[in-house]
Amino acid sequence: MTEEYITLTIKKQKNIALIAHDNKKSELIEWCKKYKNVLETHKLYGTGTTAKMITANTGLKVKGFNSGPLGGDQQIGAKIVEGVIDFIVFFSDPLTAQPHDPDVKALLRIAQVYDLPIANNKSSADFMITSKFMNEDYDHKVLNFQKNVENRAKTL
Ligand code: PGA
Repeated sequence: MTEEYITLTIKKQKNIALIAHDNKKSELIEWCKKYKNVLETHKLYGTGTTAKMITANTGLKVKGFNSGPLGGDQQIGAKIVEGVIDFIVFFSDPLTAQPHDPDVKALLRIAQVYDLPIANNKSSADFMITSKFMNEDYDHKVLNFQKNVENRAKTL
């Protein structure tokens, strides 16, 4: 019988998405500078402007997707679903309305669905990046999506 949950592994070398809303970009760049020695041992991705600014200011290699308001958050969400991205640092701005608010919510939601670590402010990011799990594989259980589809197709 197929299990309801499957075990996935967040590898020792993480695939980290870095995203910051405009008012938070300088904070994220400073954070990246502080943890450059850790970040450079992982694979880095980011929304377009954030990725470009981190690279320009820290020298870290960051693969950039589209800018957030132009679909970058959705691209990162898709990479989560594909199992490519498994760790997210997203300094969102809680005080400014964003034109792409639905995309932001979608990204937070899909990270939750896949039980991925996601930091939405500096203190969470500090705790996450200094976790012992940064230096080892981490097994976690996520919904067995194949089984989920089979069940739904049978019952709906
Ligand atoms: P940006 O997008 O890095 O292109 O500014 C970030 C966002 O607003 O989601």
